[in-house]
Amino acid sequence: MSQIQERGSTHVYKVNKISKEEMESMVARCVYEQPPFCSAACPLKLDVRAMLKAAAGGNFKKALQLYEKIAPFPLILSQGCEAPCEGKCRLDEIGDGLAIREVERAVARYGEQSRLGSVFRSAKRQKIAILGSGLFALLLAGELEKKAYPVTVFCEQTDPESYLRKAAPFLDEEAFALELRRLKGKDIQFMFNCRLDAAFYEQQKPVFDVLCASDEVRAELFPDSAPIPELMICEAERLVSGPTRGVLDAAFGAKKAALTVDRLAQKLDPRNTRGQEGPTDSLLYTDLSEAKALRRVAVPAGGYTKEQAMEEAGRCIQCHCEECLKSCAYLKHYKKHPGLLAREIYNNTQIIMGDHQLNKPMNACSLCGQCTVVCPNGFDMARVCHLARQNMVSTDKMPLAPHEFALLDMLFSNGDAFLSRPQPGFASCRYVFFPGCQAAAIAPETVRAAYEDLCSRLEGGVALMLGCCGAIADWAGRTEMAQQAHELLDRELARLGDPIVIAGCPSCAKELREHGVKELRGIWDVLEEIGLPEGVHKLERPMALHDSCGARGDAATQASIRRLAASLGVRLTDTPYSGDRSPCCGYGGLTAYANREVAGEMTEQCLERSDEPYLSYCMACRDRFARQGRESRHLLELVYGTDAGAPPDISEKRWNRLTLKRSLLRELWGEESMEDKLDFELNYTAEARRMMDERMILTDDVIAVLEDFRASGEAIEDEDGLLVARRRVGNATFWVKFSRTDGGYLVHRAWSHRMNVVKREG
Ligand code: SF4
Ligand code: SF4
Ligand code: SF4
Repeated sequence: MSQIQERGSTHVYKVNKISKEEMESMVARCVYEQPPFCSAACPLKLDVRAMLKAAAGGNFKKALQLYEKIAPFPLILSQGCEAPCEGKCRLDEIGDGLAIREVERAVARYGEQSRLGSVFRSAKRQKIAILGSGLFALLLAGELEKKAYPVTVFCEQTDPESYLRKAAPFLDEEAFALELRRLKGKDIQFMFNCRLDAAFYEQQKPVFDVLCASDEVRAELFPDSAPIPELMICEAERLVSGPTRGVLDAAFGAKKAALTVDRLAQKLDPRNTRGQEGPTDSLLYTDLSEAKALRRVAVPAGGYTKEQAMEEAGRCIQCHCEECLKSCAYLKHYKKHPGLLAREIYNNTQIIMGDHQLNKPMNACSLCGQCTVVCPNGFDMARVCHLARQNMVSTDKMPLAPHEFALLDMLFSNGDAFLSRPQPGFASCRYVFFPGCQAAAIAPETVRAAYEDLCSRLEGGVALMLGCCGAIADWAGRTEMAQQAHELLDRELARLGDPIVIAGCPSCAKELREHGVKELRGIWDVLEEIGLPEGVHKLERPMALHDSCGARGDAATQASIRRLAASLGVRLTDTPYSGDRSPCCGYGGLTAYANREVAGEMTEQCLERSDEPYLSYCMACRDRFARQGRESRHLLELVYGTDAGAPPDISEKRWNRLTLKRSLLRELWGEESMEDKLDFELNYTAEARRMMDERMILTDDVIAVLEDFRASGEAIEDEDGLLVARRRVGNATFWVKFSRTDGGYLVHRAWSHRMNVVKREG
C-alpha cells in the first residue's frame, strides 16, 4: 500500500511532465476561438456572427451596438463597404452566401442609436487636431471620439452639412440626414472656414498633442515629400494602408491611424503591440452537413425591410467548431472547448501551493480518445488530462480520494485474486488467456467457459492469467504502480514460457501492446480462426453494437467483432458515433470512480444512440449499460450461452474474482485455498447495500469494523437502540450502524470519512 499513500501537504517541488511549449502547441490545435470566415475577411474585425444573431432575433438595437464598434458612421460604412466578408461566407459553398452588407444597412437604419452625446464620459487629457476634410478625416474623427479624445477638426468647409457631403457624397438623402444627426451628436469640435496653410499649422502645433492631416492638407504642408514630423499622422502615413481607394480602405486607414494616435498620445512606440491588423485567413472548421442551401433574400431598391433583414440574418449558421463538444459528455458537462479546458488544466498543474480547482475536470475525462478522432485537427484531450494526472502524482499534489478505491481494487486483482497457471498437464504453454479484471469480476462464468473452450480446441496448451493489466494505475497517472503491474505480468509470462497472449478485453490488449507484449491476439481473432464452439445458440435479433474505446483505431478488431456478431445471428443496427468515433461508457480513465456524475452522463449518452439492446465486447461497457437498466450483453456471453445477470455491486465483484480463482484452482489444478469464513452471520438492509455501493464501501470494510467492535465492545448507541462502531482502514475511517441478530448482525447504514479519530491526553 506504500505506493498509494495520501499526498503530502508539506512538499513543495515541481516536476513538469509537460512543457509550456508543448502545451501551447497542443492548445493551438483547437480552432474553437478562431473567428468565423466572414469576420476574418473583414479588416475592421466586425463580429458578424453576433450582429447577425441579434438581427435575426429582431434585436436591431444590439445589432447596431455591435456594428458601431467598428463603424462610427454605420450608414456610411454599410452603404459604401465593398464587403469582402461576403465572398468568404461558408454558405456560398452550398447555396447563396449571406448578404451581410445589406443586413448591416438595415441594422444601421432600424437600430436605435445607443448614444447621441457623451456628457457622462470623462475625456482624455491629450488633445488631438485633425486638419482637413474627406472620408478618412471624418472617420478618424469618429474613431478618436470613440476613444474619448477631445478632437478638434479644422476645415475649409462652412458647416457640418458641407463637411459630411464632401466625405460621403454617395449617401442617399435618408442616410445623409441620419448621419448628419449622428455627426452633430458626437463630441467633435469643428472649426470651419480655416485656411490650412503652413502658418496655420505652426500656430496650432503647440496647442495639440497629436495632429492628423488629410492627404490634401499634407500635400499643402509638406510638399515634395518633406519629412513629416513625428507627431503628425497623415492619411497615407506608413502605418496606414496607403492612399485610400474606397470606403473600406478609408475606414481601415482611420482605424489604424486612431491606434497610432492613441499610442503616440501615451508616449508609446506606435509600431509595437498593435495586434493582428487587417484581414486574415480563418482556420475555423464548420460542419456544413446539416446546413440548408437556401437562396438569398432578394434586396428591394430601398434595401431590406426589418422582416427581410431578420430572415436573411437568420440564414447564418453561426459558424463554429463544436465537433468534440457534440460527441463528448465530459466536455458537454464542463461546457468548455478543449483549448480552454487544456489551458486551465495545465495552469492547475503549475500551482505549487493553494487550491487545485481543476483536479475534478482533470480526473473526469475518460481518456478515451474520441475527441481526437472527431476533431478536424486531432486535438488530444486525453493526453492533456493523462499528463496532467501524472504531473500531479509526481509532484505529490494529486489527492488520493478520486482513485483510491480503483487502485486498491487493482492491488486486490494482482494480489489475493491473482492467478497464473499453465494448462493442467503442461509445463509451459503456447498461449495464455488474459480475460481482464473486469471480466472476472462481472462475468466469472463466461470467463470459465471461454477458458475451457480455448483449452479444448487450441494446440500447445493454454495458460490462464487472472489479474489486472495495469491500465487502472496508468489511467490514475501512477506510473510506478503501472510499472509494478507490468513487471508482475512479465515475470509470470516468462514463467509460463512466453506464450502468445489471448486478450479478452480490448483495453487490456491496448495496454499490453503499449507495454511491449510482442505476441498478442484478441479472443475474437482466435474465435474467428477456430470457429464458434459447437452447439452455439443463434440469436436472430437486432442489437446496437457499442465499440469499445479500447478498440479505437483498431479496424481489424472492430471488423472481427462485427463478423462474429453476424455469425451469431445478431442483426446490428446502425448507431451514430460507432467504430473509431465511439464514446466511452464512463468506466474508462477511472471516470466512474473519480466523477460519478460525469460517468453517468457518458453512459446515458452512449445509450441515447439506440433503443435496441446493447452488444459490447468490453465487460465494463456491458456492466455500465446494464447498471443503467438497459438490456446489455457481452459478445462472449452470446458465444458461450452464459448470462452474467444483474450487475454485481463492488463487494460482489471482488467476491466473484476470488471465487473464480478458488474454484478453478480446486477443479482444474486440484489445489485447495484458504477460504475466509466468518464466525458470525452478517446481513444488510437494502439501504445499507445502496449506501455501500454508492460510497464504495466493501463488505470487507464492514467486517473489519464489526471485528473491531467484537474485540473491544465499544460502540455508540443511538436513540433507536442501533449501535454505531468505527474503524480506520487505509486512509479512511469507516462507520457502521447495525443491530444485533440471533447469529450475528444486521447492517443498517455504512459510511466513511477521510479522517482519523485520535486519542489525546486531556
Ligand atoms: S473539435 Fe473541439 S478540439 Fe477540435 S477544434 Fe473543434 S472545438 Fe477545438
Ligand atoms: S454563415 Fe454566418 S458566420 Fe458563417 S461565414 Fe456566413 S455570415 Fe459568417
Ligand atoms: S472523455 Fe474522451 S472524448 Fe471526452 S475529452 Fe476525454 S478523451 Fe476526449
